[in-house]
Amino acid sequence: MEITVVHPVMGPRTAVSRWSILRDEAGEPCGYAGTLEDVTERKALEARLAYQATHDSLTGLPNRALIMEHLQSALARAERSGSSVGVLFIDLDRFKIVNDSLGHETGDRLLVDAALRMRRTQRPGDAFGRFGGDEFILIAEQLADVTAAEVIAERLAEALRPPFELGEPQLYTCTASIGLALSNSRSTPESLVRDADTAMYRAKEHGRGGIECFQDSMRSRAVHRMVIEAELREAVSGLQLAVHYQPIVSTGDRQLAAVEALVRWNHPTRGLLGPDTFIPIAEESGLIVALGEWVLHAACRDIVGIEGMALSVNISARQLHDDRLCERVSSILSATRFDPRRLTLEVTESALMSDVTLSATVLRQLRELGLSIAVDDFGTGYSSLNYLSRFPVDSLKVDRSFVDGLCDATSDGEIVRAVIGLAHSLGLRATAEGVETEAQLAELVKLRCDLAQGFLFAKPLSLLD
Ligand code: C2E
Ligand code: CA
Ligand code: CA
Repeated sequence: MEITVVHPVMGPRTAVSRWSILRDEAGEPCGYAGTLEDVTERKALEARLAYQATHDSLTGLPNRALIMEHLQSALARAERSGSSVGVLFIDLDRFKIVNDSLGHETGDRLLVDAALRMRRTQRPGDAFGRFGGDEFILIAEQLADVTAAEVIAERLAEALRPPFELGEPQLYTCTASIGLALSNSRSTPESLVRDADTAMYRAKEHGRGGIECFQDSMRSRAVHRMVIEAELREAVSGLQLAVHYQPIVSTGDRQLAAVEALVRWNHPTRGLLGPDTFIPIAEESGLIVALGEWVLHAACRDIVGIEGMALSVNISARQLHDDRLCERVSSILSATRFDPRRLTLEVTESALMSDVTLSATVLRQLRELGLSIAVDDFGTGYSSLNYLSRFPVDSLKVDRSFVDGLCDATSDGEIVRAVIGLAHSLGLRATAEGVETEAQLAELVKLRCDLAQGFLFAKPLSLLD
């Protein structure tokens, strides 16, 4: 046993060995008792080491080891009480882009700020930790059902919503994809975390900021993906793809200004599929290059005969950074006799930012062909405004998520106003996506937004309709 001695002269923090004299009742020495050692410092060091082994040094949160240990005891408690444990797997969206484009220091600041905000939403008894990289885990005990876990996930998402100030003049928006899984009697810490992770991946497939709850059917996700990939390969070479067109109008007079080409997949058994279900798979497998070329070719061919009609086509990150893009675009323009001045290629903000030097070079080459460039989903990425002014682009498309909240009492209106102002100050045109109501349109007219697109005017349509 170790005894902590507070030595009256030396003070408590001095590590020193002391011989002590044992005395009998009469006060006579009767022997040496051994040494007493002040181990205060050693204890403190031990505690520090134990803390370091179980906590993340950047955020100070419990680390993976501690979280797994906590989950183990939570599962034991749940078993006794007959309740459920919820695991929420949180992954910051596109964190890599911040890290790569703005540097690790900024990336670290974002991690610390985001961690702090999320931790503040924690209920007493919940555990929150950093699982690694930009992944966090929240363990919630005594959950009544999935809805209770979803409420917690919503609260986490809400905490991340206000933009982050990362030391530069501009603000950064950061969303997270959240997967949740609820324990059952067979759950182990590992299986539960794996399920939550799988659900998180599914959430990511549906776009940024998604929340998904694990379902058994997701277990076969990997197999499913391989099937889709094989089918998609078939679709790209065959006749199962179709292009729909959505009008883009001038905000002032609602005159048709252009159409955006949006791909669809006529799946032989599952019917008409939207791009969100297969573009991510095409992107990951590299099939997007062939698919994108097919869409561009089909759209140019469809629209070339409609006099005066301008056309916008989406280009994915992978295509943008493909060596042969310019050459392919150029040959499609000649093959279809499409006037490049009528063509705009839409490139997402995050695609541009994932390699700024390469992006700038490719954009310059594309523009030499005579076409225009729009930055798509603007506001959801992390464009440093310095970069933006250096990219040779013609217009910005304000992301749908901001237009959505344009008339509510959120900061979205401010963002839309700022983006339109920014576009104009750089001599670019601004397009608002996802306009659904007259009130939104009225606000956009007031903000002098040039173009608008959305269900208020028309949904994407097939030319065959
Ligand atoms: P995006 O480029 O932002 O396209 C606009 C999406 O918003 C379309 O979804 C459109 O149907 C939808 N939308 C338009 N107006 C409204 C509205 O008022 N309200 C709501 N809620 N939604 C509206 P869609 O067709 O499902 O396309 C989703 C995304 O898939 C596109 O987003 C684009 O990123 C990608 N995509 C589509 N076609 C292609 C393609 O040929 N190549 C590549 N690389 N990506 C494509
Ligand atoms: Ca687009
Ligand atoms: Ca968009």
